[in-house]
Amino acid sequence: MAVQKILQYPHPILKSPSEPVRTIDDRVGRIIKNLLDTLAASPGVAIAAPQIGEARRIIVCDVSKKMKGKHHGRIILINPVIRRREGKKIVREGCLSVPDYTGNVTRYETVELEGLDPDDRTVRFEAEGLEAQALQHEVDHLDGILFLDRIASLSTDLFRR
Ligand SMILES: [Zn+2]
Repeated sequence: MAVQKILQYPHPILKSPSEPVRTIDDRVGRIIKNLLDTLAASPGVAIAAPQIGEARRIIVCDVSKKMKGKHHGRIILINPVIRRREGKKIVREGCLSVPDYTGNVTRYETVELEGLDPDDRTVRFEAEGLEAQALQHEVDHLDGILFLDRIASLSTDLFRR
């Protein structure tokens, strides 16, 4: 079974920075497969490796079920870096690792990301809207940051589902 248990806040792995991937080997391939399977079985649009207990810089994202505008479908990104950010806005956000709450956080409307694809090729692309938001959220996971850490006020910007 490749669907993995999603770690829940306050699990310590969620609060720790993840290690960069140095070689895209079979183990990385297995993590990617597990991330895709776990995401498909979840209500979310993206997931990061530390959420399934693998402290490696790998994220997957697929907003096609939730986003009408321009997007990239299934994204698998290794060692992602945000190269450019544009247009701050406040958005309501949730997290598979914090299932009981949503919160208002500031995100950028458009971001440009760079990373490796599973074939070890460098990819660079621009994302906007929900896709940009999801990718910023997942890159945060790789740095041990949860949306809870970005909420301005726990009394006015955090909501029970
Ligand atoms: Zn999350």
